[in-house]
Amino acid sequence: MFSGKTNVLVARYQEYLDWGIRVIVIKPRLDTRYGATSEICSHDNGRAPAFLIDETNPREMRELVNQKGPAAVIIDEVQFLPGEATREVITWILGVGIDVTAAGLNYNFRREPFGATPFLESIADVHQRLVARCAQPECDMPAIYTERLAIAGTKEIVVAGAELYLPKCAAHHQINVE
Ligand SMILES: [Zn+2]
Repeated sequence: MFSGKTNVLVARYQEYLDWGIRVIVIKPRLDTRYGATSEICSHDNGRAPAFLIDETNPREMRELVNQKGPAAVIIDEVQFLPGEATREVITWILGVGIDVTAAGLNYNFRREPFGATPFLESIADVHQRLVARCAQPECDMPAIYTERLAIAGTKEIVVAGAELYLPKCAAHHQINVE
């Protein structure tokens, strides 16, 4: 959530618009961090309208594609989607000749593979790993993990703002469970 992945998606969205390519943005409905229910927002206030899908039913993406007829699909927060079913739907979308750009966190706060991210990584033609800088004072190492404060509890998915999360490098990351 600190690596700027949504910035990359918003920029990609703008590129498609500039090229005159019909594009839609999709994200799981549970993510309401920015108080916006139907857009993705980059940290520098760039925005793109987004269709929300039920995070337990990635097949809704197929319905959206059939309804809207895009040439490109952008999906944010794929870590909240289930792996197998999401890979199946994305494989279908790619198979009908539609470009897909998807972004998600690689690891949950326990450093385990997170939702659909590794499943989509496995079928991607191009794969870019973005990292923030470690939040530990005086450490500037790449932060490949997300640390969650103990106050957030133990559920895998807790939707909250940046106040509950810290980007951390492998040396400084802690799994906080009470
Ligand atoms: Zn560090």
